[in-house]
Amino acid sequence: MKLASKNIVYGLLILFFLAAAYSALLSTAQEIKELSLSDLVAKVNNEEVQEIVVEGSDLKITAKDGTHYISKKEEQSSLTETLTNFGVPKEKLLSFTHVEKNPSGFLFWLGALLPTIITIIFILGFIWFMGRQVQRSNVQALGFGQSRARIIAPDNVKQRTTFKDVAGVDEAKEELREIVEFLKNPKRFLEIGARIPRGVLLMGAPGTGKTLLAKAVAGEAGVPFFQMSASEFVEMFVGVGASRVRDLFKIAKKSAPSIIFIDEIDAIGRHRGAGMGGGHDEREQTLNQILVEMDGFDTSDQVIVMAATNRPDVLDPALLRPGRFDRRVVLDLPDIKQREAILMIHSRQKPLAKNVRLRRVAERTPGFSGADLENLVNEAAILTARSLRKEITEDDLVKSIDKVILGPERKSLVITPEEKKISAYHEAGHALVAASLPHADPVHKVTVISRGRALGYTLKLPTYDRHLYSRSHFLDELAVSLGGYAAEDIVFGELTTGAADDLRKATAIARDLVQRYGMSKKIGPVTFGEQNELVFLGKELGVERNYSDETAALIDREVSSFMKKAFDTAKKIVKERRDKLDEIAHRLIEKETIERDEFAQIVGMA
Ligand code: ADP
Ligand code: MG
Ligand code: ZN
Repeated sequence: MKLASKNIVYGLLILFFLAAAYSALLSTAQEIKELSLSDLVAKVNNEEVQEIVVEGSDLKITAKDGTHYISKKEEQSSLTETLTNFGVPKEKLLSFTHVEKNPSGFLFWLGALLPTIITIIFILGFIWFMGRQVQRSNVQALGFGQSRARIIAPDNVKQRTTFKDVAGVDEAKEELREIVEFLKNPKRFLEIGARIPRGVLLMGAPGTGKTLLAKAVAGEAGVPFFQMSASEFVEMFVGVGASRVRDLFKIAKKSAPSIIFIDEIDAIGRHRGAGMGGGHDEREQTLNQILVEMDGFDTSDQVIVMAATNRPDVLDPALLRPGRFDRRVVLDLPDIKQREAILMIHSRQKPLAKNVRLRRVAERTPGFSGADLENLVNEAAILTARSLRKEITEDDLVKSIDKVILGPERKSLVITPEEKKISAYHEAGHALVAASLPHADPVHKVTVISRGRALGYTLKLPTYDRHLYSRSHFLDELAVSLGGYAAEDIVFGELTTGAADDLRKATAIARDLVQRYGMSKKIGPVTFGEQNELVFLGKELGVERNYSDETAALIDREVSSFMKKAFDTAKKIVKERRDKLDEIAHRLIEKETIERDEFAQIVGMA
């Protein structure tokens, strides 16, 4: 494409020069004086003319005094005829040299043919150009089955990632160090006949650093890294995926030792045979091809296949068989120390104020993934730049936490004083109930500044990273989610749509309590509804109902009863501590935001 357009530009330039030269020639010719025929006749009669050269209808006249003229005669008649017609006597016609030149001069031909030539050149050029296009798309069609993997070569310093760039995930790094060893020094392992792991499956929530860690393995080992997202294998056409897999493995084997990384493998690695709708045949074929390639590895092939997924539960069991992805590395969400380390990594290149305590930021961000934390630091940097400061402060970082959780503030949103009052009481209800129940997470912040879709919110954070949740915790949280609803009901005797989201969340918790966690005393230790998610169907539809209608009714009753109890608890607290509720709400209307310490002071717990 580039080459073709370049050539066309050259062609046009040449044509342009030719045309310019041609008109230049013409204009030099025009500098010679032009004679009318009658003037010419007069000159001939006076015998002033030395020579007349006839070229078609053009006359080039040289006078005896050496000046040159041009003139034109009639096309049809000859010069002699023309002059005689103008009444020149016969003998005068012999007084000058008469030269007939065939109008075959270069310029004449050029003049006549130039338009045609240009047209032909254009047409040829166009045909040639189109031809190239077609060729290109032919090449593209041929290259369809090629893998198109992104490659990071070991000497690519800029994109090189090492374990140093990955914080936390120490166990995972430890496991992967073995793989690095092997890639660095395969002989040592092969000599004692060790069977080298073929595949490593990285599992973890989105943003926990799976892709990053896979790159780091390649960076540590100094081997080429072929990255491809599983969804990139599959195109519209059947068989392309499999052919891409073959191609990818072929290239990787050629540059062994190397790493193949298949990101988001669940896109093709789901249970085969499951799912509805079209398209899964192609996925199956692609998956089969991956399995075939992995089985076809020689013990001497020094290619390691890494894959990442955040849905290990839906993977086809065949992928997890020994000899395939038999190494499984789990990446957890980072705990407080790891969060601090991740924050440290991402603020390395940024101007952090000296007194920033990243530990404090880490404390306030339970449940954040590595990607969230990176985003947080970036948001803080943007905040700093926007207020024209040079250093990122702790305050910037803390402010960015809310933004990452809930989206940007919507200060411009116009809410009426009435709405603000309702919203203030609603949030005060949540906060007060949370502060009054022993198993609920403590309140960090209450605000009526709207963010994202919420008009206001109450930020509660666990005191530590939770792995297990108790029944009493859920019951208290349930009451907290209904705190806003209860407050609106009691204070205004009226309900608004603001509580809709709370109700939805609370109902989901209550349903999980009964159906998944066996926390209902009436129903007991049973789980209902197989989490057998069907591809292409929503989750709800996909939950298989493996219980009777009677049980369904029982479950519904239990869910309602949990909700009712929680609502009663919330109402009781709101009624009993109405003075506190009013105080929080008024403070919110006045200041819009209450931070943790101030809140603790109001509700009277230091
Ligand atoms: P995943 O593939 O698990 O969804 P990524 O590896 O793409 O997540 O992570 C996204 C970004 O988050 C990374 O580029 C990195 O900047 C950051 N990140 C995630 N986990 C970590 C970590 N443990 N240490 C440092 N940075 C991390
Ligand atoms: Mg990823
Ligand atoms: Zn609410």
